Amino acid sequence: MDLHREGVCVVIKPTVMPIAGQDYPGDLAQMRAWFPDDEACLDYLDWLRWPNGFQCPACESYSATRQAGRYRCRSCRKRVSVTAGTLFDKTRTPLTVRFEAVWLMTAGKQGVSAAHLHRVLPISSYQTAWTMLSKLRSAMSPAGSLLLAGRVEVDETFIGGPRPGTVGRGAAGKTLVAGAIEVKDHGWGRARLAVIPDASASSLKQFIRANIEAGSTVVSDGWSAYPGALEGYEHERLNVSASGMPAHHSLPAVHRLFASVKRLIDGTYQGSGTAEHLPEYLDEFVFRFNRRHSSSRGLVFLRLLQRAILAQPVSYQELVRVPKPKSASPTGVSGPRAQPGSLNIGPLDRPWRVNGSKIDK
Ligand SMILES: [Zn+2]
Repeated sequence: MDLHREGVCVVIKPTVMPIAGQDYPGDLAQMRAWFPDDEACLDYLDWLRWPNGFQCPACESYSATRQAGRYRCRSCRKRVSVTAGTLFDKTRTPLTVRFEAVWLMTAGKQGVSAAHLHRVLPISSYQTAWTMLSKLRSAMSPAGSLLLAGRVEVDETFIGGPRPGTVGRGAAGKTLVAGAIEVKDHGWGRARLAVIPDASASSLKQFIRANIEAGSTVVSDGWSAYPGALEGYEHERLNVSASGMPAHHSLPAVHRLFASVKRLIDGTYQGSGTAEHLPEYLDEFVFRFNRRHSSSRGLVFLRLLQRAILAQPVSYQELVRVPKPKSASPTGVSGPRAQPGSLNIGPLDRPWRVNGSKIDK
């Protein structure tokens, strides 16, 4: 299909697997070279949002003119910006800074904290960094993705809480989390994690139906609620106590999954906001975990931007379930709105040579 836009003929290729160095930056150097200013970022978001050319979100018409970075629909006359009605809507932080944040969030195995982002990027306050990360996390939900299938280990664990608590089902002050992970002949497949209210048959049933394809084989321990929760599934029930083996030997995949997510929460987030924001942390963990074999981190960067530009906007009020995030950085004062910093400062010619200054050894 050919489209004429701003007098340029754009040839739309059929959807294929994205290619490093062409569809997404292969490494950090490329990422910075591709996106030196907001205009380049905006054009990339445009390409991700409308791969077949602009389509009016109001009337679905493909016919539009473009002026000053905005489209004007020829049918309904509506003016539409690339970021309008997406997660990037109404944000003051430059896109170059947001792209760098997305890169940091997707490149590392352990993600990134708001305190870290605020330290390393020109972001005016801890609260702005926190809001940016929370918005991105809201785009990481597995809802709508393919369900787990095949042989799937399922178990529950407690996460967080102010004190160690008692072991097993019923520890006080902690949040109960259900986990599921595909077990294949040669390693593990995709996983899901979710907060559940209790370990009853109805709560487990809800988790299993929302995350595992009917007809799959669920491997669980001997907890009495499982048989009632697994109607429509094959059930492989391990009697952990009778086997005499510690639980993590019988269900090794799901216990490794729990151990990694606990490391993320204790490490990157240092347990902060665990109870209120645990569902988002779990989504972020699963998003990264399910893409751990991705050949390039750049592909994960593309996937997150793609979700963000296709997602509905969320407000700060929707993101906070507690009144205000605590500032975790000594300089992270959430104060008056400063002019947002930018990464686009242009090339500088070896400033350390300019004044002929020497520094101490
Ligand atoms: Zn329209």
